[in-house]
Amino acid sequence: MAKVAAFHSIKQNVYHDNNKCTEGNNIEKENLRTGTGGKPKCSHCSKLN
Ligand SMILES: [Zn+2]
Repeated sequence: MAKVAAFHSIKQNVYHDNNKCTEGNNIEKENLRTGTGGKPKCSHCSKLN
């Protein structure tokens, strides 16, 4: 597992911080933003970290 800098999708209500998260990896480039966006952490990323 690899923790990475927080990122999120403008289409999702959570942020991700693990490069093994499938939801995080599915974010399309045009929707990808850095940082948490003030959102809660993705539950998958919480388990992975
Ligand atoms: Zn995630």
